[in-house]
Amino acid sequence: MAIIVHKYGGTSVGTAEKIKNVACRVKKTRDQGDEVLVIVSAMGHTTDELIELMNKVSENPDPREYDMLVSTGEQVSAALLAMALQSIGCPAVSLTGGQAGVITEDIYKKARIKEIKLDRIKKELKAGKVAVITGFQGVDSKGDIITIGRGGSDTSAVAIAAALNAKVCEIYTDVDGVYTTDPRIVPEAKKLKSISYEEMLELASLGAQVLHPRSIECASIYGMVIHLRSSLNESEGTYIKEATKMEKKEAVRGIALDENIAKIGILKVPDKPGTASKIFGALADEKINVDMIIQSIHSQGTQADMAFTVDTPDLKKAVEIAKRVAKELGAAEVISDPDVAKVSLVGIGMVSQPGTASKMFKALSESKINIQMISTSEIKISCVVKFEEGKKAVQVLHKAFGLDKISQ
Ligand code: ASP
Ligand code: MG
Repeated sequence: MAIIVHKYGGTSVGTAEKIKNVACRVKKTRDQGDEVLVIVSAMGHTTDELIELMNKVSENPDPREYDMLVSTGEQVSAALLAMALQSIGCPAVSLTGGQAGVITEDIYKKARIKEIKLDRIKKELKAGKVAVITGFQGVDSKGDIITIGRGGSDTSAVAIAAALNAKVCEIYTDVDGVYTTDPRIVPEAKKLKSISYEEMLELASLGAQVLHPRSIECASIYGMVIHLRSSLNESEGTYIKEATKMEKKEAVRGIALDENIAKIGILKVPDKPGTASKIFGALADEKINVDMIIQSIHSQGTQADMAFTVDTPDLKKAVEIAKRVAKELGAAEVISDPDVAKVSLVGIGMVSQPGTASKMFKALSESKINIQMISTSEIKISCVVKFEEGKKAVQVLHKAFGLDKISQ
């Protein structure tokens, strides 16, 4: 008997009807003889609504109370699903993160899961019940409810699946798998049968919003196979797993567009040791994630321009910090541009196939799309372009790399 973990996202448990459908699906899996554990997200947009409500009562909400509040969404769906299961003759019990033994760091709002004490889960499974567990939450050393970051239910599911040594972690959502790119941008986008952890992690971190990046990180550490699929049909989705050496790999497997970035430039920074460390140290101190960084030398050679990107919501704060540090360093000016987007090609086959970058630049230039910044890694090439040209860049590249023609 294997253990199978199902995870249902907000859209999959958005209504009573949908919860009943989920119950049927779970029961079916259990009737095939496997032990089933279900992790649920909050119904529909519940978490957003709770946050809206919070903002109406407080300007500066206490993080502890934030966790107390937003964790309730998952509790609703877990209890409802357990009831729906019971009502079709499937023994079930709902558990909060704490009841299920999910122990997190002592950090409100975005803790990591430290360990999972399996006693209770195992007891319920042994009693023949389906355990329905709230995603997105655990408890800290004080016993306080802690959430693990927006979208974190995926990570809850993978962590619990890994702890239980489950056969597979099936993540159900409203899309039926991972596509070569967002089908809303490119209707010809193709569903991938499988994708490696590394590629998926890049795509997720680059803005493909199908999975919480930390869930992939966790899956790759424990070798947990994720099957990302739709809760609306029976078709196979995409398997996220270890890359197998035998498979032939296209250089580019996916294209991501991140429209949620902004660019900051610090101009004429005196070119001497320690400046980059001051600038990026100050940003890191404020927990601002910096992505691309470009330093270019001024013609005189004594000054440099520093450009970097941040997530759009961090722009205001990042500019404030940049201005402060620029003053300290004697830099000339800080400029910023929120109207940019980042388009990225991802594929582990890039390592062994030269020419991917030049092909990308050529395709963009033929479409008169100007590249503002470039960054590369072994399995990724990203370009920052004008916001208005982001979608077009994805379309052009999808075609240029023949992703509309791949067989899977
Ligand atoms: N309900 C939480 C959120 O909306 C967690 C999740 O859905 O994964 O962020
Ligand atoms: Mg989610």
